[in-house]
Amino acid sequence: MSYDLTQKGKCLSTPNSAHYEESQTAYQRASLAALFNSTPSSGRPLLTLVSMKDEELRRTCYNYIEEECCFGSRFVEEMILTEIWNDCAFLYTLESFTEKRESCLSTKPYNGPIEFGPEDDSEPVSNLWSVPVIVPNAFSNSSKVTEIPHSGYIKQCNKCFGRLFWTCFNCDDRGKENCSRCQGYGFDSDYSCYSCDRTGKVVCSMCGGTKKIKCETCNGYGKLRFYTKLTVKWKSHKRDHILNASRLPTDLLRQVSGKEIFKERDETVQPLNFPNNTALNEVSARLITTFSLPTDSRIVTQRHSVIAIPYTRATYIWRRKKGEFYVYGFQKQIYFKEYPQQCCCCICC
Ligand SMILES: [Zn+2]
Ligand SMILES: [Zn+2]
Ligand SMILES: [Zn+2]
Repeated sequence: MSYDLTQKGKCLSTPNSAHYEESQTAYQRASLAALFNSTPSSGRPLLTLVSMKDEELRRTCYNYIEEECCFGSRFVEEMILTEIWNDCAFLYTLESFTEKRESCLSTKPYNGPIEFGPEDDSEPVSNLWSVPVIVPNAFSNSSKVTEIPHSGYIKQCNKCFGRLFWTCFNCDDRGKENCSRCQGYGFDSDYSCYSCDRTGKVVCSMCGGTKKIKCETCNGYGKLRFYTKLTVKWKSHKRDHILNASRLPTDLLRQVSGKEIFKERDETVQPLNFPNNTALNEVSARLITTFSLPTDSRIVTQRHSVIAIPYTRATYIWRRKKGEFYVYGFQKQIYFKEYPQQCCCCICC
């Protein structure tokens, strides 16, 4: 049985995966259920996507040690393979796409015709969730700021109380400040200062001589528009769990590809219910029920999937020692907890 890695994600020609018909639509629950419905027998894997044999395993080992100068090749030649077990790990992933809404009072300068009071006669929307906001791309984080309809009203500026301007603090209402060149003396090193024409004073750099500074809060209009600002944040929360990994470290399995055998998207998804994989069902139920929704949020949509990651576990005897190694993923990565023939000088290779 061989795999063309370029065919990843497409329907693969193996006895078990032949049941899967590749389509643009999601795999239906029924298809996996049908697979898991096949009578399980002890000592038989639930699903096999790759079947590696002795020769191919050794060849993969040779490729592996080529990159490691301290790994000897005699082990690969001499080891006796006592068992080759082809199986699959299952990566279950749950993604919840949530929306959070928060509001706060906000202001901006107003120079329109309304004197004071509400912008219109309609009651402002009291329920944040009834404000229509278009949801952007699902399962990607983003945010949007808008305002609650009919919440706008006009008031006098609460900073300057309608005065529009402040007395310039730089020149203290004089319109002029000390010349920086001559420090206000009118002379610079016994010569007349040309910057201030010997007066020691120049036009105030802050107010330009007007003695007034515009109120920054209302931009000198004296009025503010108050409104309720609505901030909407979308976030994707991803959780996963790997089952049936044998002694393979799960973080390694996450780095390789497998075959997606199930996916589903709904407003909220229900736990898997496959007759012959209760462990997968339990993981699905646990991840779904323990998802904690952030405050002031709702779930927009959820999706979950199962990816079968093939692996082959080979047990061996070499120089009277027993051990095991794994070939995993469609990339055929190798995992030894500790390679049995290691040296520091490469002479024994
Ligand atoms: Zn000034
Ligand atoms: Zn001067
Ligand atoms: Zn103001």
